[in-house]
Amino acid sequence: MRRHLTDLVRLATRWRVEHEQVKSTANMVNLQRVRTISVVVAMINLVFVVWLAAELLLGHDLGLTRRWKWGLFLIHMFMGLSFGLSAWAARRLRYIAHSKAGQAVPVVMVVFALVYSTGFAMVDQWMTPAITPFLIGAMAVGLLAYLPPSVSLWVYAFAYGLFFYAIGLTQGNPEILLSNRINGMAAVCIGSVLSVTLWRQFTVLTLQQIQLEGVNAELETKQKELQRLTRLDGLTGLYNRNTFVELTIAELARAQRQGSNTSILLLDLDLFKRVNDTWGHPAGDAVLKNVAAVANRSVRSTDLVGRLGGEEFIILLPSTSLEAARRLAEKLRMNLEQSPISWEGADITSTVSVGVASTTAAEQRDFDHLYSQADKALYLAKKKGRNRVI
Ligand code: GH3
Ligand code: MG
Ligand code: MG
Repeated sequence: MRRHLTDLVRLATRWRVEHEQVKSTANMVNLQRVRTISVVVAMINLVFVVWLAAELLLGHDLGLTRRWKWGLFLIHMFMGLSFGLSAWAARRLRYIAHSKAGQAVPVVMVVFALVYSTGFAMVDQWMTPAITPFLIGAMAVGLLAYLPPSVSLWVYAFAYGLFFYAIGLTQGNPEILLSNRINGMAAVCIGSVLSVTLWRQFTVLTLQQIQLEGVNAELETKQKELQRLTRLDGLTGLYNRNTFVELTIAELARAQRQGSNTSILLLDLDLFKRVNDTWGHPAGDAVLKNVAAVANRSVRSTDLVGRLGGEEFIILLPSTSLEAARRLAEKLRMNLEQSPISWEGADITSTVSVGVASTTAAEQRDFDHLYSQADKALYLAKKKGRNRVI
């Protein structure tokens, strides 16, 4: 018995936590439903109001029948007005669904629906012992609005209290009254079970959806990261070979259309093997990162810097003539010479040899041609003693 009780308490706590997570979604769905359902309910009531008005005007009923029709007429009229009002309120509140008013409207509508259905059942007692309107109201409310059990149980308890009292005002036969009160109790019980069941179903589905959205967002971030990793060089963060070639081909096509010059610089560190041999590979890696930083700060933002592999770098200079490219290469060469890195208390200075190649729009040289031209120039620079631009 004790174990069952702790299980129940645990279940209630879990439900409460879950309900907190879906409360705002439920409120939004409720408000949306109020917006549409209220209009339909208001229109149905209007039809009844017209019908009953005609009955009252044209009929010759007397006594109870007339009173019954009047009762129905008034309740339908008030119900139509209330639902029209709630449709209007739900429409106004659609962008502030989480405000106090936004949360209140669906609950108020549910309470109204139960009050009116009690009213119909009460008035009906003048004509028939049936309580059909109350049965319909109790079921419909359970089906239409997502209310957390803590709210729906109070709403149903209030509705039953009202029903119990109201039906006593119009039903004089004690046996029928008892039977109706028992049936009414059954109706609110079934309505509550329906309401709690649907609320739980809604909670589980919404939580699954929230979880799925989270997983999706995570996947998207990972995919972007993967895309970034496949486009960039892992050590320096520069464009890798494939990306650089792809971007350069596109740029050459653009330059040809616009009739501008394009230049590339091919860089190879001088005697880099020595850095690795003297200071070790991690020092060599630090030098490569430094070269990337110096290159990035020596060029314009529209220029592209890539690492071809090893200690070879490449730079694309859009709208740049051969002479301007040479000047830039010289500036870059000097910048690097003047930016040694500190390693284990010592400075490591590295120099670079640069091969420059250029094409005008009229020449229409492709990337392979430019690359091989720059490679030849680089070879010459090395041959002539390194640390120079050719
Ligand atoms: P040169 O002036 O003729 O270019 O001489 P070099 O020593 O730079 O010539 P070489 O091309 O033979 O040497 C390149 C060296 O670069 C070989 C390799 O140890 C080193 N290397 C290539 N990739 C990396 C890397 O990612 N990290 C480090 N630390 N070293 C690298
Ligand atoms: Mg090399
Ligand atoms: Mg080298």
